[in-house]
Amino acid sequence: MRKKIIAGNWKMNKTPSETIGLINEIKEKNPAPDCDVVVCTPFVCLSNAVETAKGTNIKVGAQNLYFEDKGAYTGEVSADMLKDLGVEYVIIGHSERRQYFNETDITVNKKVIKALEKDLLPILCVGETLTDREQGVTDDVIRRQTKIAFLNVSKEDAKKVIIAYEPVWAIGTGKTATPEQANEVCAMIRDCIETLYDKDTADALRIQYGGSMNAGNAKELLSKPDIDGGLIGGAALKSDDFTTIIKSC
Ligand code: PEP
Repeated sequence: MRKKIIAGNWKMNKTPSETIGLINEIKEKNPAPDCDVVVCTPFVCLSNAVETAKGTNIKVGAQNLYFEDKGAYTGEVSADMLKDLGVEYVIIGHSERRQYFNETDITVNKKVIKALEKDLLPILCVGETLTDREQGVTDDVIRRQTKIAFLNVSKEDAKKVIIAYEPVWAIGTGKTATPEQANEVCAMIRDCIETLYDKDTADALRIQYGGSMNAGNAKELLSKPDIDGGLIGGAALKSDDFTTIIKSC
């Protein structure tokens, strides 16, 4: 059985002081669930997040990292910097980073490799646009994103990666993939991992669904056999909604 994992992607929301408040609320309402819980905050909030979550089952993640160790990369943040703060997870290749910040499949691969090298657990985002889906190339796009992201990643390391299937048309739009649609793509991603590695690796690796998951639809999505958790945007900013999603596991 794969342990479910619920991760909140706060995007560019909440100040460092607001971070303390929101994590304290989650702590109060959090029923110590049988799933992994992660909050991915802006860089400047990470220190407060780690401090506030200490001693609880809530882990902290970043929303990006740079693939070089150090040097003249103004504005970038390295894996060592994140590790030093106590960060354990990092979102890589979110569609907003691919769309607005020119992330490519190749930079995503470099970041996955760097995160694993430094013992950070990558939450690797893949997903098709509405045009991809309408043109019938969803599987091709997601297989390409997945294959390139895992280039030169060993079998042992591959098992540590969490893949978030996030249809771009469902992110922040209120449109959710149906549980059947979401499960079908998650199963296809698992098949892609089996082709790249083997069944053991594919069975071990966790695949989340993300895209307007909320307190109302989480239970049904999370009941599907190939959906091992959720990456939550908007609903992760409200402690009631986020903890209801956690309880849905
Ligand atoms: C996300 O940003 O990863 C996401 C899934 O956002 P939302 O839940 O708001 O659609």
